[in-house]
Amino acid sequence: MAEDHHEAIISKEVFERVQVMIQKHIDEHGIIKNMGKYHNKYPFSGIIICGECGNKFKRQTQSTGIAWACSTHLYDKKNCSMMFIKDEAIKAAFVNMMNKLIFSYKQVLLPYYDAICLLDTDENLQEILGLKNNLQRNVDRKNDLRKLRVNGFLDSAMYNQELRRIEKDNEEIRTALQNLERAEENGSIKETKKLLHFLESADMLTKFSDELFTDFVNNIYVYERTCIGFRLKCGLTLKEEVCTGTR
Ligand SMILES: [Zn+2]
Repeated sequence: MAEDHHEAIISKEVFERVQVMIQKHIDEHGIIKNMGKYHNKYPFSGIIICGECGNKFKRQTQSTGIAWACSTHLYDKKNCSMMFIKDEAIKAAFVNMMNKLIFSYKQVLLPYYDAICLLDTDENLQEILGLKNNLQRNVDRKNDLRKLRVNGFLDSAMYNQELRRIEKDNEEIRTALQNLERAEENGSIKETKKLLHFLESADMLTKFSDELFTDFVNNIYVYERTCIGFRLKCGLTLKEEVCTGTR
């Protein structure tokens, strides 16, 4: 295992994308989560996502060992050029990532934890209530407009123009609400606490652990064959280089 010191990449864009993904995951797997776990024989089953085509990776038994390959690529190489990754290489990348976290969580994870805690304040709640009031006010405005239109005080052009303005306003309010509520609901604070708790007393890992992986990782995003991102349950995505030593 090469000893390198790549910094965790946590861009705002990645962070936001992960928030959406986590919420989606909760929505989709909230109830059947445990059932899914029971049926999945391997920790990587169904959770490695191809960065080129978006399809999932499948487990393959090759002459040189177990590998994971993009389903699209397996079906037709013309539709996706992503090459397979060795099972061992993914496991080694996870061990690397965890060891970097164990070594540097104070620089990487603590500032992140502080940042997401800030989102979860009373101020946030007040803002949510304010936005909901604005939505209700727009409902009332639409009713008033409709009455004016029915009674002939507004021509259809003015009516429609005003309606569009309200809808546009509603759209902006809903987007703002979603962003605020996501911070409230997605449980990233809880998950970050859990990870921090583990890291505080963890020794450097010497081998891969199914249990640790499943505890802290939602899925794996394959940027390239040589670079994957572990999308952690706490909301962070940590990139890691993958060794492709044997072809
Ligand atoms: Zn693909």
